[in-house]
Amino acid sequence: MDAIAMKTVRADVLILGAGFSGSLLGWLLAKSGRQVVIADRLRHPRFAIGESSTPLADLALRLLAEKYELPELAALSHYGSWKESFQNLRCGLKRGFSYFRQPVGEEFHPGDDHGQELLVAASLNDAIGDTHWLRADVDQWFAGKAAEAGTQVWEAADLHVTGRSPWVWSGTINGGERAVTVTADFVVDGTGPAAVIPKLLGLGDETERLKTHSRSVFTHVRGLRRMGDWFDSQGVSRAEHTFDCDHAALHQLLDEGWMWQLRFDHGVTSVGFVIESPDQPTGSPEEQAAWFLDRYPTLKWQFADTEVVDPPGRWLSTGRLQRLWSTAAGEDWALLPHTAGFIDPMHSTGIGQSLFGVESLAELLGREMSPSERQAGLVAYSQRVPAEIRAIDGYVAACYAARQQMPAFVAAVMLYFAAVTTCERRRLRDEPTTFLATDDRELTGTLTEAASRIIEARPRTRAEADELVAMVRSAIRPWNTARLLEPAIANMYSYTALPADT
Ligand SMILES: Cc1cc2nc3c(=O)[nH]c(=O)nc-3n(C[C@H](O)[C@H](O)[C@H](O)COP(=O)(O)OP(=O)(O)OC[C@H]3O[C@@H](n4cnc5c(N)ncnc54)[C@H](O)[C@@H]3O)c2cc1C
Repeated sequence: MDAIAMKTVRADVLILGAGFSGSLLGWLLAKSGRQVVIADRLRHPRFAIGESSTPLADLALRLLAEKYELPELAALSHYGSWKESFQNLRCGLKRGFSYFRQPVGEEFHPGDDHGQELLVAASLNDAIGDTHWLRADVDQWFAGKAAEAGTQVWEAADLHVTGRSPWVWSGTINGGERAVTVTADFVVDGTGPAAVIPKLLGLGDETERLKTHSRSVFTHVRGLRRMGDWFDSQGVSRAEHTFDCDHAALHQLLDEGWMWQLRFDHGVTSVGFVIESPDQPTGSPEEQAAWFLDRYPTLKWQFADTEVVDPPGRWLSTGRLQRLWSTAAGEDWALLPHTAGFIDPMHSTGIGQSLFGVESLAELLGREMSPSERQAGLVAYSQRVPAEIRAIDGYVAACYAARQQMPAFVAAVMLYFAAVTTCERRRLRDEPTTFLATDDRELTGTLTEAASRIIEARPRTRAEADELVAMVRSAIRPWNTARLLEPAIANMYSYTALPADT
């Protein structure tokens, strides 16, 4: 390697991974006066999955915007202000969560009293709605913001450790064009499933203790027909829908798992099957997708005119989605939440949890504090993040266990909504809280115990489901300010039922 091309840098913090969370952390640390290098093995823009934001994620963005005086972040937190401020940043409108139970071999039917569908509004109108993030655009934007704030963002980087205390990482950037060495006091791992630091340090792998077991087959398509149009074409009323069910994280519940549909404004929809069984269906990702469409007529109708656009003509597949490392931080390193572990796209927890993690690390690494205060904070973070992931695991596994009986599935979903609305309420009141309020032992203990009972029961009959609904109704009572599981609501939740405006 030519010695003249060698670049040597001293940094307070090296961040591995320039996804939105690594980049946002770099941006905030630069704003706090830290010298930061971010290194990603790829170049922006690049395809990434994990696109559906939530009220809790958007609230976290607004709080960060206020604390770090970054009005652009606040603009990203609502659909209306996003569209006004960022014409080139592609997104989609998300007014809430919708769920439809699809019968094998038959057209969907909502059932009596919406028994086979569930709509939960998360905002009052489109302007203050949440968004689906086109990650290729959004992640590039965050990396650009980090760079504007003074962070060095290295793309197409290939770094390896050559020293410790302080960390020394050496290698090349720009696809081998330039040799680099960075010396850093602290390393943050934001590489997600690549898990560079956990593998380097040989952290304990706790994946086998997780209850959820799913994998995914996904892509981006153009021309997906809307579920709302399906209702209209069949003459089935959607008069009682509390919002447009396609402006949502739309869930198609299937015998084998479920499917997400997340619409963007430019006519493209992110679609993905999430499958509980490791070996059914089989074949290429495209064959597996076709197998589902043959099995579920309403899905077949939705996909009749679709073109697979990103990646062109291809579906992608994963192995088991779940992973969890035993700890999320040490003396001179920390893992962003998506590196520490992951459960499942169900409930769209990824972006929100990542933002909570960014907030904590920006505080711990950006604010002046004594070494002992920082260490205490890192110890708390190291335990908190895996605990959040274990709680998500319980809420999600309960949904999988309950999905053959829609009333039980709705009850399982409400365990998550009880936790998330409690967390939102606390954040709105400026009370300290962890993601999904897992620091509230009574709440998390009660709700995860209820989740375990659903997982054990795996209800198959209506009577079994009704018993679980009654159990959940009683379990969530102390935190149920949103009229969750109230029979009069009949699975059609409007925003006024949620507590964010109470
Ligand atoms: C199938 C699926 C669906 C999901 N759906 C949702 C959803 O709807 N809503 C939601 O909130 N969350 C969802 N998630 C979770 C979401 O994807 C994550 O929370 C989010 O991507 C975290 O962002 P990040 O920036 O931390 O990491 P990532 O997006 O994982 O980014 C990691 C970055 O690290 C880089 N990298 C990898 N290896 C290296 C290396 N060796 N050196 C340097 N850089 C490296 C990558 O190129 C990438 O840029 C989903 C996840 C999956 C798997």
